[in-house]
Amino acid sequence: MDTPVVDEFAPGLAVEVVPGIRRVVAPNPGRMTGPGTNTYLVGRQRVLVVDAGPALPEHRAAIERAIGDARVEGVLVTHTHRDHSPASAYVARRYGARRVGRLPRHPEFHDPGFVSDEVPDDGALYDSDDGPLVAIGTPGHASNHVCWYHRPTRALLTGDHVLGTVSPVILPPDGNMTEYLDSLSRLLQLDVSCILPGHGAVLRNPPRVLQGLIAHRLAREAKAVAALGRTPATLDQLLGRVYDDVDPALHEYARYSLLAHLEKLHRESRALRDGEHWRAA
Ligand SMILES: [Zn+2]
Repeated sequence: MDTPVVDEFAPGLAVEVVPGIRRVVAPNPGRMTGPGTNTYLVGRQRVLVVDAGPALPEHRAAIERAIGDARVEGVLVTHTHRDHSPASAYVARRYGARRVGRLPRHPEFHDPGFVSDEVPDDGALYDSDDGPLVAIGTPGHASNHVCWYHRPTRALLTGDHVLGTVSPVILPPDGNMTEYLDSLSRLLQLDVSCILPGHGAVLRNPPRVLQGLIAHRLAREAKAVAALGRTPATLDQLLGRVYDDVDPALHEYARYSLLAHLEKLHRESRALRDGEHWRAA
């Protein structure tokens, strides 16, 4: 008889990905969400929920099954994009727990219903019976992005700051490429054993992943610099040149990251902007 194969990304399943941390995948697969949003539960009896995900009834039920009769110490978010935080309101109410997260500078793409009971400073600590999570501010993908560091295992919950197979989209005006690269560099100072992203599988070898992301961004930036000429060009004209190696089906997202690159170059006086037109400085 064949051994049954368990799909570790099957929605609703609570899979222990590192000791003390379980992952429940939400049933919202897609181009930007991969197999679905990852909700993480840290601890067994005194639990922290990170990124409760979309407010889908099946997902809420899966989180409740995973919590069982444990006490919920906090409902934490990495950021408040609409695939990450909407279910936190329900989970917090159901278990009488506090919602912990930062508020964005700009509301576009964010969950309008998110309310924060506690805004975590850098270094703020939230305890579970499997050890604490520590807040590490990582703005860039979103202005209010926080990664959560699990001290006992040195695992880092990265939300959308670091993803597996895709490079996170930076969405101006809330997203900011300068901040994004700074946040990646800061994480390189941290002793991280593995990365638990907001979508997709556990990532081993964190330094290589982080350096790879930085190199990818700088290579894309170099392409943007090369594409800028003396003749003013629109964002869409530049998009075809800078992202000529990317499936055009993804260009609607790439367009945001290109804008974020151009804004960074503009801040550094390396690009000039005149209304809708960009050119070399
Ligand atoms: Zn996001």
